[in-house]
Amino acid sequence: MILGVLKETKINERRVALSPEIVKMLVKKGFQVQIESGAGLGSNFADEDYKLAGAGIVSKTEIFNADVVLKVNAPTREEASQYKKQAVSISLLYPYTQPELLDMLNARQITSFAMDAVPRISRAQKMDALSSQANLAGYKAVVIGANALGKIFPLMMTAAGTITPAKVLVFGAGVAGLQAIATAKRLGAVVEVSDVRPETKEQVESLGGRFLVVETAEEVKTEGGYAKEVSQEFLAKQQQLIKDKIKDADLVITTALVMGKKSPILVTEEMVKSMKAGSVIVDMAVESGGNCEISEFNKTVEKYNVTIIGESNIPSLLPVNASQLYATNISALLLHLANNEGFKWEMDEEITKGALITHQGELVHEFTKSILS
Ligand code: NAD
Repeated sequence: MILGVLKETKINERRVALSPEIVKMLVKKGFQVQIESGAGLGSNFADEDYKLAGAGIVSKTEIFNADVVLKVNAPTREEASQYKKQAVSISLLYPYTQPELLDMLNARQITSFAMDAVPRISRAQKMDALSSQANLAGYKAVVIGANALGKIFPLMMTAAGTITPAKVLVFGAGVAGLQAIATAKRLGAVVEVSDVRPETKEQVESLGGRFLVVETAEEVKTEGGYAKEVSQEFLAKQQQLIKDKIKDADLVITTALVMGKKSPILVTEEMVKSMKAGSVIVDMAVESGGNCEISEFNKTVEKYNVTIIGESNIPSLLPVNASQLYATNISALLLHLANNEGFKWEMDEEITKGALITHQGELVHEFTKSILS
C-alpha cells in the first residue's frame, strides 16, 4: 500500500502529517511511503531525514497517486479533485463545516477518515490528535499570554519591594484548559477556573487551581467526553460569577467548547471594558466563533487597553512537537484500520465508525449528518 504525505498549504501551517521516525516504523511494517519534497521543513525535518527513514521524496503530483493520503489539515477541494478515485484520505476534517468538500469526496468515491472524529475512549487515546494538539496549545497559550503581559507571573520578594503573583483565569478545563492551568501554576501565577462539568473541579484542584462553582441544580450532560450545551440560565449565572473575577485577572485563557456548536460567549465586550489596563485575553476558541465577544480571528488586537489574542493555530507555533505527536496519532489510526495489504473495513467497530466520514460515495457519519441536515 502506498502512503502519500502532502505538504500543508494552509496559511501559517508548519506541521506535517508524518515524522521521519514514524516513517521508519511504517516502512518496517511493509508500507511504501512517499513524501512531497519540502513537506517537513516547517517542522525541521529535511527531505534527507525522510529518505534515510526509507521514504521516497516526490512531487505533489506524484502524491496524488497514493492509495492513502495523509495530511494534518483537510484536503482543499483542489487537492481532493486530484486524489485518485477510491483513495483514502486521513486528516483533520471538521466535516460538519465542509459540506462542499464532502460532496467532492463523494463524487470521487474517496473514503475519508477525520482525525477530529476519533472517539475519546481509552482504546483510542494514542490516536487522539485533538488532545495531543490541544495539550501543546494549552501550554503555548500561557506562554504567549505571559509574553504579552507587562508583568511577571510569580511572587517575588526583592530589596525594592514585593511583587504579587499574576492572576490567571481559565475558562474550560478540558485538555487545553488543564494544560494551561498546569503551565500557569508552574510559572507561579494564582489560577482560577470555570467549567460547566462539575467533575473537572477535582482535576483543577489537583493542579493547584481554584474552581469557581456555579450554584445551580442543573446537571450538565456529557456525550463522548464533551459537554453538551447548557441552558441560558446556567450561562447567566456563570457570567455573574465571571464578571467579578475578570476585573482582577491579568491573563484570561478561554477554551470553552461545545462539540459541533458555536462556542459559548463567556467574555462580553462589557466585561473586557471592566478589565485592568494591560491585561491579556487568549481566546483559544476563536476558530469556532470565540469565547470572547470581541476577539478577532487570527489577529491580536488591543481594545479598551486589553490585548486580545485570537490565534487559531497555536499548535503550529510548536511544529516540532506538534508534528511528532500528530504523526504518532495518525499512524496509530492507520494501523488500527489497515495493514500494508489493505483496509479491514470493520464497519461496526467503534473507532472505525466514529472516524469514518465518507465511504463509497456516501456521507456515512451520523453526527455530521445530523448537523448538516
Ligand atoms: P475539551 O472538549 O477537552 O474542553 C473544552 C472544555 O470546555 C470542556 O471541559 C467543557 O466542559 C468546557 N465548557 C463547555 N462549555 C463551557 C462553559 N460555558 N464554560 C466553561 N467551560 C465550558 O476541548 P479542548 O481539546 O481542551 O479544546 C478547547 C478549545 O480550544 C476548543 O475550542 C479547541 O478548538 C480549541 N483549541 C484551539 C487551539 C488554537 O490553536 N487556538 C488549539 C487546540 C485547541
